[in-house]
Amino acid sequence: MKSIKYYLIALLLILTGCANQKKEISFDPVTQNKFLLGTVVTITLYDNPEEEIFDEIFNELEKIEKEMTINNAITSEVIEINNHAGIEGVKISKNTFDVINTGLNYSKLANGAFDITVGPLVKLWEIGFTDARVPSHEEISKALELINYEDVELNEEQLTVKLTKPGMMIDLGGIAKGYAADTAIKILKEHGNQHAIINLGGNVYAYGDKPQDQPWKIGIQNPFLPRGEYLGIASVKNKAIVTSGTYERFFEQDGVTYHHILDPKTGYPVSNNIVSVTIIADNSMVADALSTAAFALGIESGLALIESLDQVEALYITNDNQIYPSSGFMQSFELTDDTFTIIDSH
Ligand code: ADP
Ligand code: MG
Repeated sequence: MKSIKYYLIALLLILTGCANQKKEISFDPVTQNKFLLGTVVTITLYDNPEEEIFDEIFNELEKIEKEMTINNAITSEVIEINNHAGIEGVKISKNTFDVINTGLNYSKLANGAFDITVGPLVKLWEIGFTDARVPSHEEISKALELINYEDVELNEEQLTVKLTKPGMMIDLGGIAKGYAADTAIKILKEHGNQHAIINLGGNVYAYGDKPQDQPWKIGIQNPFLPRGEYLGIASVKNKAIVTSGTYERFFEQDGVTYHHILDPKTGYPVSNNIVSVTIIADNSMVADALSTAAFALGIESGLALIESLDQVEALYITNDNQIYPSSGFMQSFELTDDTFTIIDSH
């Protein structure tokens, strides 16, 4: 009974990429934050969690960062792969191999609008870093020649990855946080922990293991308002809710705003009327890849892709306050801000 009650009362407001989660819950959740994988990671546990669980999760996420980042001066498995581009394959851990493999599958599924070999472009723009700038056309066309997920060779038996052209770079920024969230949930399950909210800068996982539990209420960010202001509520349990938005990372130059989801065809930030895409799926890695992919594909092709997949829903928000849900999204979503209009395209 108690668990039902606190789920009903719980209105857990998720702040994409922000440390302070607001919540109204009838008992004390325990929250810890840490800056990892380029974002604030917030872990909220219930059921009187042991301190060790937090430590174990944060340690594991740190390990993932050390394997998969390309942003630190220190090395990583992905940096090693990139440094050997055009030379030879590099043996890596099973974890990194699986994320790259999944990343390539979704690159293919998205027809290259999502492409984990986008690294040379990401490095050129440096969006989200202090040295972000608009590259020259020449720089961009050079980088574009290096981007093609088909030029990655995997050897599953030996766990090696080879980039076939010198200068190629894998960037797992569009998928690694999702993998990290799944890993956190795996650890919680191993500990028999039954309720948690994991938030890695907008990659949320709403975890509840008891059959009688009610869904969590997860706020969906209003992309035009400060973090923590929502346009609606998703009611979900054991689901990943992942949002990719132009407001997450961007910079301005000469009055133009440049955001961090890049078009592997043009070399510039994806230019359409979308401000954010939210994906709901069972698996956070899949949701993460798809949020970036759906953004890059645009509403029509993106929704077509989402509809072709089982157990995956999407919600697009445009710069003129329109909302385009996939066919099943509204089953778990309630719009609370009437300045937005839902467009039923089904
Ligand atoms: P966030 O990292 O803000 O949660 P996303 O999950 O949408 O946002 O991932 C964006 C990141 O993915 C970028 O910062 C970059 O590292 C990488 N990226 C950018 N454009 C693409 C693309 N077209 N395909 C794959 N990855 C991309
Ligand atoms: Mg993503």
